Amino acid sequence: MGVDFIYPEFEVVRNDNRCIACRVCERQCANEVHSYSPERGVMISDETKCVNCQRCVSLCPTRALKIVKSDCRLRENANWQDDTIKEIYKQANSGGVLLSSMGNPKPLPVYWDRILINASQVTNPPIDPLREPMETKVFLGKKPQKVERDENGKLTCKLEPQIELSMPVMFSAMSYGSISYNAHASLARAATELGILYNTGEGGLHEDFYVYGPNTIVQVASGRFGVHEQYLEAGAAVEIKMGQGAKPGIGGHLPGAKIVGDVSRTRMIPEGSDAISPAPHHDIYSIEDLRQLVFSLKEATNYKKPVIVKVAAVHNIAAIASGIARSGADIIAIDGFRGGTGAAPTRIRDNVGIPIELALAAVDQRLRDEGIRGNVSLVVGGSIRSAADVVKAIALGADACYVATAALLALGCHLCRTCQSGKCNWGIATQRPDLVKRLNPDIGSQRLVNLMTAWRHEIMEILGGMGINSIEALRGNRLMLRGVGLTSKELEILGISHAGE
Ligand code: SF4
Ligand code: SF4
Repeated sequence: MGVDFIYPEFEVVRNDNRCIACRVCERQCANEVHSYSPERGVMISDETKCVNCQRCVSLCPTRALKIVKSDCRLRENANWQDDTIKEIYKQANSGGVLLSSMGNPKPLPVYWDRILINASQVTNPPIDPLREPMETKVFLGKKPQKVERDENGKLTCKLEPQIELSMPVMFSAMSYGSISYNAHASLARAATELGILYNTGEGGLHEDFYVYGPNTIVQVASGRFGVHEQYLEAGAAVEIKMGQGAKPGIGGHLPGAKIVGDVSRTRMIPEGSDAISPAPHHDIYSIEDLRQLVFSLKEATNYKKPVIVKVAAVHNIAAIASGIARSGADIIAIDGFRGGTGAAPTRIRDNVGIPIELALAAVDQRLRDEGIRGNVSLVVGGSIRSAADVVKAIALGADACYVATAALLALGCHLCRTCQSGKCNWGIATQRPDLVKRLNPDIGSQRLVNLMTAWRHEIMEILGGMGINSIEALRGNRLMLRGVGLTSKELEILGISHAGE
């Protein structure tokens, strides 16, 4: 429709004294912001195309570039803010649903930042993790009600299949198609080296990655893309995706333009056809239906693999989790409203779901109250940003955390939040061969290993500071947490005291 009345969001500031017109920025920008003007003999910019991914800034050899947020503003209005008005212009122009990616950027409370961790002083000495043993290993899966041994001390109780992790973190679902081959390779290799798991997402498992099977969670989503017997057999665990935090209650959509070559073969759908996952699984309308799928997948994998059910954190999450815990699932994964995504309708991403901190506390408490907490392990995700977030999640009741955005940041993502365009300049959320090769999986996997190794050290230091020497002893230990600046209702749901109490 033409005019959208929008001044560009970002401005390219080029220092002409430094610019040597090497044209690196032009070659590096898939959005075609930079070009060389032969008439003027200088570089020029089309700022309407800039998404502030910082690729040009990072690679400019003379540090001649800066991308700044434009200070051009519409007239001040506390009710009709700039972004709201611009979104209306965009919709008036396109007539379409607004799409975005990555997590909810709205200024809603981040409860992790309002929770503080305890430390031992005087009466309960801290532990030095460099000199004393510290256990960060966790096992995910259904636990027996009681431990029984024979006269030789051998366990006699039946143990359901478990996932063993060297630390309480896994890389969460990101499909091949939404992210690149090299991004997947980086995650798979890093997970293997770290002794943790990564997750295929709903795009199937590329043939090259079967070798990483013991460190892979294979996902079964409503579209059933790429699901077959060998696929289920390949993974260490099978995850049924009922929902995701970035877009609870709706399905997924990978445009046909991205269904090319290997992506099409891995998903088992024709090239160029849109990969649309329906909002519901068309065979699941109750916990009994879910139970059937859980046991179908167990049957298909000879009862050797734990089954995870992943849901988005929504208002009645505690009741939903209670049902899932009774469905035969071994692990419940809960994804909070800040969870990332390759593409989601903006309105859904920004307005649907609840914070993972509240969801986790409510679910853990409910399962304890009902005496079924041991039936399942809890894995939480949806913007776990640091080792401190992991520790707080464990103390609130999680067994482990799912990490995705932090992993992508380690690979070079600059959170420009335009993954849906397929033009990721960092080689992550793209299938364009020239962009994919920008991410070297050797370097990518090493950076992921570095990040997780650093987190593991930090987790051990925080545990030691609390005088605790194992993750297991921290799980659900809410006495180790205090809230700051929270209402009594929020503290009640989180099940923690206020600082000073
Ligand atoms: S990369 Fe830097 S020096 Fe090279 S043309 Fe762009 S702004 Fe100029
Ligand atoms: S993955 Fe790429 S496109 Fe997506 S937010 Fe990160 S840098 Fe931007």
